[in-house]
Amino acid sequence: MKVLLLYPEFPDTFWSFRHALPFLGRRSAYPPLGLLTVSAMLPTQWQRKLVDLNVEKLRDRDLAWADVAFLSAMLVQGPSLSRLIARCREAGLRTVVGGPITSADLHVCEGADHVVRGEAEGIIGDLVSDLEAGKARRRYEAAGRPDMATVPPPDLRLARLRRYSAMPLQYSRGCPFSCEFCDIVELFGRTPRVKTAEQVLAELEQLYRMGWRGSVFVVDDNFVGNKAAIKLLLPRLEEWMRVHGNPFCLYTQASINLAEDDELLSLMRAARFSKVFVGIETPVKESHRAAGKLQNVKADLLECVRRIQEHGMEVMGGFILGFDQDPPEIFEKQIAFIKEAAIPVSMVGILTALPNTRLWRRLSGEGRILRQSVGDNTAALLNFIPRMDPDALLAGYRKVLASIYSPTEYFERAQAMLGRLGAVPKPRLVFSDYLALCRSFIRQGIFARYRVAYWHFLGKTFLRKPGHMGLAVTLAIMGHHFFTLTRRLKSGVPHRDVA
Ligand code: SF4
Repeated sequence: MKVLLLYPEFPDTFWSFRHALPFLGRRSAYPPLGLLTVSAMLPTQWQRKLVDLNVEKLRDRDLAWADVAFLSAMLVQGPSLSRLIARCREAGLRTVVGGPITSADLHVCEGADHVVRGEAEGIIGDLVSDLEAGKARRRYEAAGRPDMATVPPPDLRLARLRRYSAMPLQYSRGCPFSCEFCDIVELFGRTPRVKTAEQVLAELEQLYRMGWRGSVFVVDDNFVGNKAAIKLLLPRLEEWMRVHGNPFCLYTQASINLAEDDELLSLMRAARFSKVFVGIETPVKESHRAAGKLQNVKADLLECVRRIQEHGMEVMGGFILGFDQDPPEIFEKQIAFIKEAAIPVSMVGILTALPNTRLWRRLSGEGRILRQSVGDNTAALLNFIPRMDPDALLAGYRKVLASIYSPTEYFERAQAMLGRLGAVPKPRLVFSDYLALCRSFIRQGIFARYRVAYWHFLGKTFLRKPGHMGLAVTLAIMGHHFFTLTRRLKSGVPHRDVA
């Protein structure tokens, strides 16, 4: 059997980093971990080929070569997925669709021959034998949640690593919290399941042997969901990194209660975690309470952010506008909080009712759902009727973005963050880092409209924190992505579906 693994294109969103990647000479943030993990579970005699539309084109001869196409997508990749399914049909190629989108939007999968819902580990055996026997069913539904010990390392041989800016690694699935708007607990459950330390180290070893150096994104939705397990893993990770000459720089996502635990913060920093994305959502406690984000209710959010930064890790923040409890002055409050917290990379989006969430069920019951979510909370497209006047909400959202992603505001926050950042290990620079530096100097320092603010930022960093110059250039490059996208959003250029 010849299987073509197809990964649909991401639209141009804050998360795509599309305007930062060219500086690094990369085409996409990271390869499709789900498809590569599925590939590792297929029979060894099956031939496979990966086409990730984010880094390469799909050719007719790829379609002609294959017996079956496996596609995996998130909700935000829906439009590109639809087109891919149609193209496979035209070519007479059988399609199997899986990934989070099948739990959220079956409509987009209608043209597919087979749809797989749930985590692949529990179903793949049946699917493979049914395909081989020519009697595969229309639907496959995973029963239960697989033990993470059964998850193999991803089949990275299929991916052209140099086209990506980071490599993905998954340690756990699930989150102990239950935020109303989040679909993670619906997909993966509230009991975090973790890989063994040996599995994690084997994946790092694989990356190391394949010559990868640089960023590794630990993709867990909440890396600290099981603190006891993490505290056992991190010393092993630190030792492995030290023995191998610290080849990787790690980043991940975590809940704010990470900041309560000095031991955990120190262990993460020692293991070379350099930044962490935290769902802060809003400075309004009443909104946290109503959304069931109780870990944020009791936390002093500004203090928590500062503690993480002081432990040498950059905080990237997720923020939401459009909660029922938002006061009229929410926009000014968000801007002020982001500034005071010194969070340069702030992902601000409008509340979205994702399918199969508690929020979706509540709003459905209240008759407030307008449409299916497109999975992109920066799309400035409401999928529910907010309490606030919708025009005021959209105008306020644009105002927040225009403010926090004005180059002056952004560089000021970046400077303040660098001032707080605790000791960071000397970065291990690779060739692409030097190229990125040259490109940044030329493109941002000579041709960009914001070049004065850019040089001001770099100059100050050089004088005050010369050890942070590498990080400062990285932040400037990230800033370029946000400035570009915010400008497009302001000018009304659609950015949801460019595939
Ligand atoms: S803490 Fe994060 S991952 Fe966990 S339920 Fe809340 S939003 Fe989802």
